[in-house]
Amino acid sequence: MPPIVALQKVSKAYPNRTLALDKLDFEIGQGEFVALLGPSGCGKSTALRLIAGLEKPSRGAIDWGAADAHSIGFVFQEPTLMPWATLFENVYLPLKLQGIKRAAAKQDVLKALDDAGLHEFAEAYPRELSGGMKMRASIARALVTEPKLLLMDEPFAALDEMTRFRLGNDLLKLWGARGKTVVFVTHSVFESVFLSQRVIVMTPRPGRVFTEIVVNAPYPRDENFRTSSVYAGLCRAVSAALADATATDGAS
Ligand code: ADP
Repeated sequence: MPPIVALQKVSKAYPNRTLALDKLDFEIGQGEFVALLGPSGCGKSTALRLIAGLEKPSRGAIDWGAADAHSIGFVFQEPTLMPWATLFENVYLPLKLQGIKRAAAKQDVLKALDDAGLHEFAEAYPRELSGGMKMRASIARALVTEPKLLLMDEPFAALDEMTRFRLGNDLLKLWGARGKTVVFVTHSVFESVFLSQRVIVMTPRPGRVFTEIVVNAPYPRDENFRTSSVYAGLCRAVSAALADATATDGAS
C-alpha cells in the first residue's frame, strides 16, 4: 500500500524550547490501522497535530501523499460537542463549514449518526447522553466529511472499561466497512494490541520511534481474541518493548 502520510525526521520544539519530538520517522499505509503508543508526555499528541497540519514541524518533513487537509478527521479525548445544539447540528457542523446546506447534508449526517449507533438520537442534546454516546457523536462528526485519514487522540481514555471495549469493537467495524486509515494514539498496551495492525512504540520525550510491532492477528477481532493466548502474548511483547523504550534515555 502506498503511504497516506510519511513523517521524515520530524522534530518539534515548542516556543518555550520544550523539544517534544526528535527525528520522528514513520509511514502510514493506506487503509492501515496503526497505534501510536508511548508514555504520557512523549509527544504522541504533538505528532498527531503535526499530521493534521495543526502545527508545523521545526525540522523534517511531512508528506501527506494521498491525504490532504480536507481528508483528515480528528477525534480528541474530549468529545467537544456544542452543548446548545442537537446531535444532528453537532455532526452537521463540518459540512456546514464547507458551505453545504442542511437539506443537502441531511442524508450524510443521518448516515454518520447511524454508523456510530446513534440513529435514534439525532434530536438529543449532548447533556442527555452518556460519555460513550458523546464519544460516538464525536466520531460521527469526524466521519461525516468522509475523510481518508482518521486521527484519534486517546479517544476512549476517559471512559469506563466496558464502554471502552464496546467502542473499540464498533470502531473496528466502522474501519472495516468504510475502508478508512486510522492513527490511534493511546498509552494503553491492551488497547493498542486489540485494535491495531501495527504498534509504533515511542521513546519518552523527545519522542522518536523506539520500535514497531506487527500485530499479526486476523480481523474481525472480538471478545474471543481479547481472551486468547495470542492476544496475551502480543500484549506481553508490546509491554516489554514499552518498558525498554521507557528505560532508554530519550534525550541521548
Ligand atoms: P503526549 O500526547 O504523548 O502525552 P504531548 O504531545 O501532549 O505528549 O506533549 C509532549 C511534550 O510537549 C510534553 O512535555 C508537553 O508538556 C509539551 N507540550 C505540548 N504542547 C506544548 C505547547 N503548546 N507548548 C509547550 N510545550 C508543549
